[in-house]
Amino acid sequence: MNLGRELISGDAIQRRVRELAGDISRDYRNAERPIILLSVLKGSVCFATDLSRHITVPVNFDYVAVSSYGSGTESSGHVQLLKDLTMDVTGRDVLMVEDIIDTGLTTSFLFEHVQRHRPASLKLCVLLNKEERRITPVPISYKGFDIPNAFVVGYGLDYDELYRNLTAVHVLEP
Ligand code: 5GP
Repeated sequence: MNLGRELISGDAIQRRVRELAGDISRDYRNAERPIILLSVLKGSVCFATDLSRHITVPVNFDYVAVSSYGSGTESSGHVQLLKDLTMDVTGRDVLMVEDIIDTGLTTSFLFEHVQRHRPASLKLCVLLNKEERRITPVPISYKGFDIPNAFVVGYGLDYDELYRNLTAVHVLEP
């Protein structure tokens, strides 16, 4: 597998991140307590970190980890929780931050998991959306970009743990 063409430039990502952070700051301006940015390891760390730097309301960070892909490019469809929440989210405003939504299986699994803790609100912010691959519908409140059905890497997204540090999103080519 090789790094293919640039799909979204680093500049375009940063512009969109600032816009999303503006929308989030406006929507949560009356929140009584800090919002919990719940990022899904490891892919969404770059996105959640950049986003948080432009959000103007108080935020807390928490992280969960799941496995669904293994080291290949096709979802196994089987989602497993590898690392649970460390904060008590009951009664809190939780914003889940995802790198990419493909089939929707991972996100709907995590949504149900967090809902069981009875947060005051739970919304989803995703950088990349592959709509045509969706199996389970997921309620996206904040979306960076719709992308075609290709396997992408960069800006947190990996192939076999590589390419996460790239500033742009690239297509991976055989
Ligand atoms: P879903 O459960 O929606 O099918 O897949 C979600 C997870 O699969 C993402 O969080 C991500 O880890 C992985 N994934 C889906 N599509 C891609 C892709 O194009 N590139 C990479 N690197 N990971 C992907």
